[in-house]
Parts: sequence; C-alpha cells; structure tokens
Amino acid sequence: MREKIKKLFFQLKIWRSLKVRLFIIIFLMGLIPGLIIRASILNSYEDRAVAVRKSDVQNQLKIIANHLITYNYMQDTSSEVINAELEQLSNLYSGRVLIINGNLKVIKDTYGISEGKTIISTEVIKCFKGTDMANYDSTNGFIEITTPIVETVSEQMATEAVPAGTELTRGVMLTSVSTDIITATMDILNRKVLIIECIMIVCLFVIATMLAGALTKPFERISKAIGEIKEGYTNEPISVPDYLETENIVDAFNSLQSRMKVLDDSRQEFVANVSHELKTPMTSVKVLADSLMTQQDAPAELYREFMVDIAEEIERENKIINDLLALVKLDKAAGDLNISVININELTEIILKRLRPIARKSDVELLLVSTREVVAEVDEVKMSLVLTNLIENAIKYNKKHGKVTVTLDADHQYFTVEVADTGMGIPPESLERIYERFYRVDKSHSREIGGTGLGLAITKNAVLLHRGTIKAESIETEGTRFTVKIPLTHVAV
Ligand code: ADP
Repeated sequence: MREKIKKLFFQLKIWRSLKVRLFIIIFLMGLIPGLIIRASILNSYEDRAVAVRKSDVQNQLKIIANHLITYNYMQDTSSEVINAELEQLSNLYSGRVLIINGNLKVIKDTYGISEGKTIISTEVIKCFKGTDMANYDSTNGFIEITTPIVETVSEQMATEAVPAGTELTRGVMLTSVSTDIITATMDILNRKVLIIECIMIVCLFVIATMLAGALTKPFERISKAIGEIKEGYTNEPISVPDYLETENIVDAFNSLQSRMKVLDDSRQEFVANVSHELKTPMTSVKVLADSLMTQQDAPAELYREFMVDIAEEIERENKIINDLLALVKLDKAAGDLNISVININELTEIILKRLRPIARKSDVELLLVSTREVVAEVDEVKMSLVLTNLIENAIKYNKKHGKVTVTLDADHQYFTVEVADTGMGIPPESLERIYERFYRVDKSHSREIGGTGLGLAITKNAVLLHRGTIKAESIETEGTRFTVKIPLTHVAV
C-alpha cells in the first residue's frame, strides 16, 4: 500500500519539480512556527488570566471568611454587612457563593436556591479536612473554589481538649466564578491572530513563490542554453556559475559537447579523406580510358599497356575498400574477439614465409629472433593483421639490401613483438600521426609502393582490442622499430 502511494506520488509530475518542493519547504518553514507561536501565546494568556482571577477571588474569599467568624454568621445569617459583602462579590465576579456549616448544610446561597439543603461533595469534605482547592473548568467557563471558614480558639473559649490558638474549621465557602471575560478576550485575540495569520499566509505564498523561482532559475537557464545548442542557434560553451552544482553540470555538458565536436570533425575529415582516396584511382582509370578512346587506330600494345594500368588502379581501389572494411569491422568489434590459444612463434614464422617473396623482390633480408616459446590468448586473424602490416611496412619502407629483424620475447604477463628495419625512418613530427587514417609521411612514395595509409590505423585498433600497446621509435635514414606489447592472457570486459 505504502509503495503504491509512493509510486502514485512520483507519477505526479508536479511533485518531481524542484521548484514545487522548494516552495512547499519555504512555505511550511514560515507557517509552522507561526502556528506554534500563536497556540502557545493564546494558551499562556489563558493560564495567566485564570491564575490571576483565582488568586483575586481567593483573597476576597479569605477576607469574607474572617468576617463570617467575626460577625458570628455561622449561627446567625441575618448580618446585613456580610450579606451585602457576599452580594457584592457574586455580582463582581458573576458568581455564586454557598456557605456550608459543619453539618454540611447550606446556610447561605447567593442565588437563594439551595439554602437548607445538605451538600455531600468530595471537595467540600476535603476542605473541612484542610485541603482547599481552586478548579478551572474550561469547557463550561467557570472556576470552582472552596475556602475554609476557620476560627482560632481564644483564651476564654479554650478548654483542656481544645487549647487556645487551635484552628477549627467551622464551615466551608463553595464559590463558583464565571470566566466569561477571559473567554471573550480569548475570542477577540483569536480573531485578531487569525487575521494576522491570513495576511502572513498570503505574504508567505508570495515570498515562497518568488524564492523558489529565483533558486531554480539557474537550472532553467541551463535547460534553455542546452535547448539553444540543440536547435543549432549556437555552439558556444554554456556558463551558469550561480551554484557549484550548476557549474559541475555545465562543465560536464561542455566537455561532452567539445568531445562530440572533435568526433564530428574527425568523422567529417575521414569522409573527406575516403572520398578523395577512392576518387584518385577512378580519375586515373578515366584518364587512361579517355586517352585510349581519343586515339584512333591505337596499336594493340598500347591497349594492353593501358589496360594493365587500368587493372592496377582497379586493384588499388579494391585494396582501399578492403582496408576500409577491415577498419570498420575492427571499430565495430570491440569485445568481439575470437580468442584462442596461439603459438606466436609459429604464427610469426608463417607470416614471414608469406612475405618472403616480397622481401626478396626488394632484396631485403628477413630475420626472426625468438628468445623463448610464446603462447598467448589472442584473436589469430587480428594478430596476423598486426604482424603482417608491421613486417610489410618494414619491407616496403626499407633500403635496397636492407634488413628486417622480428624479435619475440615474453615475461610472465606480456609478450612483445619488435619489428626493426634499416629503412628510411620516420621524421619525429610524423611519429605521432602515423596511426591516423590515410596519414602518409610521403604520399606519392607510399602510393607508388601500393600503400593506402590505413595499415597502421588497422594495426593500432587490433592491438588496442587486445588491451595491448604499440610504440614506434625511429631515426631518419637509419631505420624504425615498432614494439607491440600484448597480455598473455585475455581478460574479457
Ligand atoms: P601505408 O599503407 O601508406 O603504408 P600505414 O598506415 O601502414 O600506411 O603507414 C602510414 C605511414 O607511416 C606510411 O605511409 C609511411 O609513411 C609511414 N611508415 C609506416 N611504417 C614505416 C616504416 N617501417 N618505416 C618508415 N615509414 C613507415
């Protein structure tokens, strides 16, 4: 049930608004203390007023009780003075006074109703025993007071049993006085406080609305600014430094936006590069075909020669497309590795064997140095791509009679493949960029030897998929060394 109410509560969109919650908090924080203060002021006023009235009446009653003894009223109720005093008291406090003698008989009632009757009430009996009381009955609006009528035994009246100075309770005065005035004053006070409260609620409402609005304004500014960026009006970074929290949100958004911008720029650059690379062989094919067509009666050898060139260009186009596909596949395949336990020494030997004919053509010597047997959990196809690309580059960018040394080594955690050549080297400013797609140090030379500029991008992607690292060191005109370091065991994420 509680869960259901909670769910329903959160389904109401308005409760999820920070502004509404702030409004409620501010409003209640103003209202609750106001209500508590009002209740406590009214209560303490009532207590104080009743206490003052009780002590006033009790003082008067004590004086009258003394007079009752002086004027011997308990035996003879005809005393004009006392009757006038009693009348005055009951008029003054809109009350009623009963005088009860030792036999619990009412000898005087200012209302004149109960005279001669016997009263058996606990309060009266308690008063005879020495405990007087003053009770406030707030529901009916009166105070009931019992006052003992005490006579002190004089020397003349003293006996052995009752020595002089003994206090004897001759009777009890049972008085009830109205508290209507207090109630009326309370009513007036209540009404005034209610008016003040209403004004306070209106003011609180206005203040809470304004404060809640002002406090949540920075958040509205953030969503407005994000909205503007979304609509494409601006690309400027957002700045809302009002709170630390808004600053953090905005900083996170700005860095996300700049990351997206970098991604977008590199995507655009990539698309431009791809188009350019794909266009180049097509342009060559068109030029070759056009020149054949414009030549009438061209000899068959020329046709053959041009067709060989055209076939080469088409092969080049094919290579670029294949490399692009391999790259896209690697991009998509994060975590999609086909891991198996592979003997890296054997794999390297197979690849070297495959590349030996190309090396021979360029008169480059291929050497494998393996210090130990390396067995690792890798994706065989992707690992072959890494080794092939690195060794192929080392052959392609080598000198005549050059040398390529592939060194295999391992510790208890990683294995390393080092591919070192004695080639032209890479200038330091290009070392950082060689992994970029379509980046080539010498564009025309690379194209001449059939490079697409995608090989190292593919290699780096495959190494990263294996959670490995790749590093290139080079000295121009002396040679380059690529070092790949890959964990022996694959940890899936
Ligand atoms: P490509 O298909 O052009 O070889 P890569 O991505 O494999 O493309 O290499 C990028 C560039 O890095 C090459 O164009 C070349 O300029 C440079 N490069 C790569 N390997 C070597 C190397 N072993 N020696 C010298 N330069 C190299």
